[in-house]
Amino acid sequence: MSTTAHLPTAPLRARAEIDLAALRANVRALRAHAPGAALMAVVKSEAYGHGAVPCARAAVAAGATWLGTATPEEALVLRASGAVPADVRILCWLWTPGGPWREAVEADVDVSVSAMWALREVTEAAKIAGRPARVQLKADTGLGRGGCQPGGDWAELVGAALAAERDGLLRITGLWSHFACADEPGHPSIAAQLDLFRRMLAYAEGEGVRPEVRHIANSPATLTLPESHFDLVRTGIAVYGISPSPELGTPADFGLRPVMTLSASLALVKQVPGGHGVSYGHRYTTAGDTTLGLVPLGYADGIPRHASGTGPVLVGGKWRTVAGRIAMDQFVVDLGGDEPEPGARAVLFGPGDRGEPTAEDWAQAAGTIAYEIVTRIGTRVPRVYTDSEAPESGDGGEPPR
Ligand SMILES: *Cc1c(COP(=O)(O)O)cnc(C)c1O
Repeated sequence: MSTTAHLPTAPLRARAEIDLAALRANVRALRAHAPGAALMAVVKSEAYGHGAVPCARAAVAAGATWLGTATPEEALVLRASGAVPADVRILCWLWTPGGPWREAVEADVDVSVSAMWALREVTEAAKIAGRPARVQLKADTGLGRGGCQPGGDWAELVGAALAAERDGLLRITGLWSHFACADEPGHPSIAAQLDLFRRMLAYAEGEGVRPEVRHIANSPATLTLPESHFDLVRTGIAVYGISPSPELGTPADFGLRPVMTLSASLALVKQVPGGHGVSYGHRYTTAGDTTLGLVPLGYADGIPRHASGTGPVLVGGKWRTVAGRIAMDQFVVDLGGDEPEPGARAVLFGPGDRGEPTAEDWAQAAGTIAYEIVTRIGTRVPRVYTDSEAPESGDGGEPPR
């Protein structure tokens, strides 16, 4: 594999390889799924565990013109990194009272407002900053989470935002909402949310709002629901090459490729007799003479303890299963008599086309979704950026395969 100059030379206990060429190809594939819309790469929570700044840079190189974060702090870090061109917009949507509104206004970050308290805080911040805020009004069209309720609440928020816009304190740059069940095509809530979104848009536009962008589509809607694309699609999980739901299809079905490969070096390989208990609680006992491999990753690194006894690992070309409980820092696999050298690579998940399991396999093993598997990989696992095209490096990386 060709790599960037960031690949450390010392062997690592464990690493999350992030394939930026795959990420760029995913962004291009998503743009082809939504050709009439701009693309926002959602890079919240360190780009779903892949590293916000390098992933933001790669997404922009592949044509993303918006970046999305949950918290304002994430948005401000991205702006301060200098990695994001000034004309690339950043929207953040998870605010609490007393948040860094002034900093966001000064950093040209678009902010989401769902309630009157937030509108009051952002207009105060705009006065102090001496420049208008970029505000996107968020509608709750049925998710029942963030967003402003339809009816009187929406009328009040739209009216107050328009008044502040006339006063030069803000510019209403967007109107938006979020789906509850876009990963279940045909779910009746999808059509109901689209219908209500159109009505809430029509009300706001009838009152005089002129948004730059109207948007509601997340990854599953981008992949399966063209009528939801409007002016902008907000793709998160699909940028990282993971299908929003196995029921919708595999990544390959959508032209996507998983970006993260998580692996570790075996810390120990040893022979044990039959009847030997393994790990805390002895939830696994060897059936006969065998070999055990010690994988130096645990739940502190984000390996779900719920995958004890079920998580799959590729070692020496064979799928093995976590034997017994996953501990804080380590777990064990039964190698069935094979004796790889200590340091041999154990691959927990990757794209899946080199025989290794995928993050989706771990999600199934742990009873969760692949979003959670990649996002919770901990800070103790270094990210190593690889780039099979290496267009941006020019730093002596190996040529593409
Ligand atoms: C996380 C998030 C997204 C991206 O969702 P995916 O399913 O990962 O594409 C889009 N919009 C909002 C508001 C989000 O919180």
